[in-house]
Amino acid sequence: MRRYSAFAIAREVLRHHQGWERAWAKPEPRKQYDVIIVGAGGHGLATAYYLGKNHGITNVAVLEKGWLGGGNTGRNTTIIRSNYLQDPSAAIYEKARSLYETLSQDLNMNVMFSPRGVMMLAQTEHEVRGYVRTAHANALQGVQTEFIGPERVKELCPIIRIDGPRYPVLGALWQARGGTARHDAVAWGYARACSDMGMHIIQKCEVTGIRTEGGNVTGVETTRGPIGCSKLGLVAAGHSGVLAQMAGFRLPLESVALQALVSEPIKPCMDVVVMANTVHGYMSQSDKGEMVIGGGTDGFNNYTQRGSFHHIEETVRALVETFPMIARLKMLRQWGGIVDVTGDRSPIISPTPVGGLFVNCGWGTGGFKAIPGGGWATAEMIAKGAPGPLAAEFGLNRFREGRFIDESVAAGVAH
Ligand SMILES: Cc1cc2nc3c(=O)[nH]c(=O)nc-3n(C[C@H](O)[C@H](O)[C@H](O)COP(=O)(O)OP(=O)(O)OC[C@H]3O[C@@H](n4cnc5c(N)ncnc54)[C@H](O)[C@@H]3O)c2cc1C
Repeated sequence: MRRYSAFAIAREVLRHHQGWERAWAKPEPRKQYDVIIVGAGGHGLATAYYLGKNHGITNVAVLEKGWLGGGNTGRNTTIIRSNYLQDPSAAIYEKARSLYETLSQDLNMNVMFSPRGVMMLAQTEHEVRGYVRTAHANALQGVQTEFIGPERVKELCPIIRIDGPRYPVLGALWQARGGTARHDAVAWGYARACSDMGMHIIQKCEVTGIRTEGGNVTGVETTRGPIGCSKLGLVAAGHSGVLAQMAGFRLPLESVALQALVSEPIKPCMDVVVMANTVHGYMSQSDKGEMVIGGGTDGFNNYTQRGSFHHIEETVRALVETFPMIARLKMLRQWGGIVDVTGDRSPIISPTPVGGLFVNCGWGTGGFKAIPGGGWATAEMIAKGAPGPLAAEFGLNRFREGRFIDESVAAGVAH
């Protein structure tokens, strides 16, 4: 595949943009692959990419029931950070964040990684204690974060009101190298690189059954016919439970809709990401000028990829106290995605009771930031047949053995 470059743009300008190649091929499914990945979201595509790049396995198909990146990967608010509390989390999220730093060069696709800094506001004494503790833990883990006072918060983000009547800003956990990236470009970049390695990305191909023989996986049933494989990775976020059921086991997950909205575009007014977890809302400004606002999950399990009116009201009402200027903004669009939430708010990267069948799921409200690390760890597990160091603690057995990785403070919020 031809590389994207300044020269390529100049060449295509001269050719009236007639010479661009398709970013990824549109192949017919083969009868058999070494590895099938179900779900062409960020984690599925990154898993395929690192299977090829790190382990030389390229006879791979990624099957997607809709269009690639059309699940949560194309619906999130794009926050990237690694300021988690527990060591296994810090390791995988920091691996992901560091891969994001050079992802554009690695994939030869501009993923618009913008390390503009992420602050998590402390608006109660309890949060101050929690974030100071996280900052200490991060220092020991080698993750660069610091606890900053209210004046520094105001300096970094002048539109914040720090002396609100109910929840004054008492400080914030600040990660200067956290930020955002363009979510579609992340999916497109991985897809293009996978296709370039000869892998098959097959869209509009829903997996409807999982074939096993003697306790081992042998393939899948799809809306485009049966396809065989030696190894299968289920990387389907909110639909992981449905797929696990097809293979005859259960996952400790709940699927809920998580919602977000954007305002009309306005002039640049905020060049950091702010999360206000007590009032429950978070906000950043997109390159187009829209204020990107994240809310919470629905209070009941469901599979609806939609927004709902009460969420707009709740989320905007929550944020207005801390950001009075947004009271006069018009909201443009609202949507939802189906996220898969575990009891300890940590992901599952694990072999399963079925031989050759692996899962990557449970990222809940915060798996966009983890895409490169999650893909890296899942590829290693599929290639070697067992989890490597990054994934070792995230196995399904932790729920049986009570070894939870409790991230309810860092990840129990939507982001
Ligand atoms: C509103 C919202 C805001 C968010 N904000 C953030 C944020 O700011 N930062 C952050 O880090 N995370 C955030 N997240 C979470 C993040 O988006 C997800 O954790 C992450 O995208 C999960 O990626 P994935 O590849 O596992 O899943 P997905 O992108 O959902 O991909 C799974 C794919 O599997 C496909 N699939 C399902 N069933 C089948 C089947 N039977 N056959 C074939 N294909 C199937 C789906 O169509 C889908 O494309 C947010 C999520 C939402 C919804």
